[in-house]
Amino acid sequence: MISHEIKIAFDEYESLADLDKADRLLCLEAQKALKNSHSPYSKFRVGAALRLQSGKILHGSNQENVAYPSGLCAERVALFNWGANHPDDPIEAMAVTAHSDEFPIVKPITSCGSCLQVLAECEKKQNQSIKIILHAEDGPVWIIKGIENQLPFLFFEERIATP
Ligand SMILES: [Zn+2]
Repeated sequence: MISHEIKIAFDEYESLADLDKADRLLCLEAQKALKNSHSPYSKFRVGAALRLQSGKILHGSNQENVAYPSGLCAERVALFNWGANHPDDPIEAMAVTAHSDEFPIVKPITSCGSCLQVLAECEKKQNQSIKIILHAEDGPVWIIKGIENQLPFLFFEERIATP
């Protein structure tokens, strides 16, 4: 028997004010994305913003549906928009934030497993890791570099992926 240990790493900043300008602005773009959230069921708004290498910003927000599984998370709305419209302009960073009218959010919201798996595919597709910036309201900011620090056991089967 062999026991293995995997370490993941991320940086925590006290507030948005401690980030560099480009990352702080991207967080503000994620906050802007909250307004188009369609979340009448959860009343939990999530906003995402991607910064592409060209400087272009793409927004995503959670889009719920009365048939619950038909909805989609903010991160995948943004990432699929990138894949469909800007696949040759690599993603440098993605900021994600959240807001609820019903309770305060005091720490960063992390992405669900499905969004992480899609994020992994985007990194592989562009052959470049993506900086993830998570924040919520007045709480701290977490910066996570690369999918390996979020989903170390992601599904990726080389024999399927290699033509
Ligand atoms: Zn998700």
